[in-house]
Amino acid sequence: MSEKKAVFFCSASNNIDPKYNQAARETVRAACLAGYSIVSGGSFRGTMGAVCDAAKECGAPNYGVLPSFMEGLEYEGLTELRWAPTMSIRKEMMREGVSLAVALPGGIGTMDELFETVVLAKLGQFRGRIGVLDFEGFYEPLKALLKHFVDTGMMTQEDADLVHFASTPEELAKIF
Ligand code: AMP
Repeated sequence: MSEKKAVFFCSASNNIDPKYNQAARETVRAACLAGYSIVSGGSFRGTMGAVCDAAKECGAPNYGVLPSFMEGLEYEGLTELRWAPTMSIRKEMMREGVSLAVALPGGIGTMDELFETVVLAKLGQFRGRIGVLDFEGFYEPLKALLKHFVDTGMMTQEDADLVHFASTPEELAKIF
């Protein structure tokens, strides 16, 4: 059987409330329990570090992809660390072979990773499921933006429905 992989898009910031990293760890644990190997940005920074910690604790294979200009930011103890020449190629490498992409609470980099994945999904170029952890309503503005796109005809409801929002790790795990 081929390896089941899930990629996590998440904050690189060390300046966030620890509750976000706690929610991230619980979500990664749920993915590990569902049999996924974990792929992330591979840095020790911010929520990425929490994702790697949780994967390690669960004993799941833990893959990281960093751009070569970020040498020195890699998480120690990854199962495999791969270097990407650019941020764009890093996103492609992070998505390689994954059947699940999850956006945890994050900022502009997380949105870049999520949006590119949704665009590829709507074009049939990404065939995995896409989940968003709307922890404590963090992504209500994103939900409103997608609704606005649908209401104005900029996006079909079918494409908006490619993104599965859930407010807790347990609820999100239903799509794992
Ligand atoms: P952000 O949501 O802006 O904190 O960006 C985090 C996401 O973008 C992560 O999933 C990373 O893949 C990428 N990223 C952005 N900034 C960094 C950084 N300083 N170090 C490592 N990865 C980063």
